[in-house]
Amino acid sequence: NIKFDLVIIGGGPIGIACALEAEKKNLSYVILEKGCLVNSLYHYPTNMTFFSTSEKLELDNIPFISNNPKPGKREALEYYRRIATSNKINIHLFEKVTSIDTRSDNNHIVQSTKGEYSTNNVVVATGFYDIPNYLGIPGEDLPKVSHYYNDPHYYSTQKTLVVGASNSAVDAALEIYRKGGDVTMVVRKPEIGERVKYWVRPDIINRIKEGSIKVYFESSLNEIKETEVIVNTPEGEVTIENDFVLLLTGYRPNFGFLQDIGIKLSEDGRKIPEYNEATMETNIPGIYLAGVICGGVETHKWFIENSRVHAKMIVDHIGAHKNVSVD
Ligand code: FAD
Repeated sequence: NIKFDLVIIGGGPIGIACALEAEKKNLSYVILEKGCLVNSLYHYPTNMTFFSTSEKLELDNIPFISNNPKPGKREALEYYRRIATSNKINIHLFEKVTSIDTRSDNNHIVQSTKGEYSTNNVVVATGFYDIPNYLGIPGEDLPKVSHYYNDPHYYSTQKTLVVGASNSAVDAALEIYRKGGDVTMVVRKPEIGERVKYWVRPDIINRIKEGSIKVYFESSLNEIKETEVIVNTPEGEVTIENDFVLLLTGYRPNFGFLQDIGIKLSEDGRKIPEYNEATMETNIPGIYLAGVICGGVETHKWFIENSRVHAKMIVDHIGAHKNVSVD
């Protein structure tokens, strides 16, 4: 197997930030990424706009120049790709990490779909976008149902049900309505989510008020059939004609993967992984967490803007405490 000072799992913005820090400190490292470069971002909706301004998405103070106050997906892909290529980041794409085996001498054996690596230090920066929060209702696996939204054109003139009331659900509902889709929302709470971007919230509230987008508040989806859906509302069960269903009820980190590594999760329902807030080291010496994964089920807590600092914290700690050759 190949030996590195540091193995970084996940080639998202935060994994790349860790690689930039490792390069500065002359650590030998590799990023293992199961999909394409910044795989989660690549799968975000085509027309998405970040809520952060471009400088808040920057890594290592490398300027992110955007003409818009808030950049879109295309610009972010361009930015992170240029960082990875011009710094010649050592990244293996389409290589999924399947297990980490920690030996008694604190050496970790990282097993992937393509090889085996030996290292004293691992950063787990695997994000949260791979596993949707499944509703577990009949019909959820029908081909017309999706837990990811990409582009509005597909839903034009179609009766589309959007479940959820957070940013992704609201963005999808508004875009589809504006491309001629017939949109109905199902929302568990009595109102649109409070964390919806402040410049988008009035738009959705007014579209609902004028009847352009229909909504069932305090309701839940019971069942999905080929041509209709059954919604549980405060007034009783309602059957609605339907062509497509978007279940935009959030995503969750791969908790099984963390537990298999041996990382402890809080037992208060939040499943916060155990780590030292000053160093980002988990309960397993030499295994660190970075990025959105740190929040457990609270996937809104950490994002690019506030977690890019994890990279320096981790690499500084590795340099100060581990047996690697640091400048
Ligand atoms: P990710 O970007 O999710 O990267 C994790 C990577 O790990 C992925 O590429 C994944 O393929 C890979 N991976 C997973 N498991 C494995 C494995 N076993 N082996 C190998 N690779 C693996 N944040 C902001 O700061 N500002 C914003 O404006 C903003 N807007 C957003 C808009 C949307 C629609 C969404 C969904 C999120 C937004 N975020 C925003 C949040 C932000 O995108 C995430 O917090 C950010 O992607 C976290 O980066 P990360 O590197 O921790 O995780």
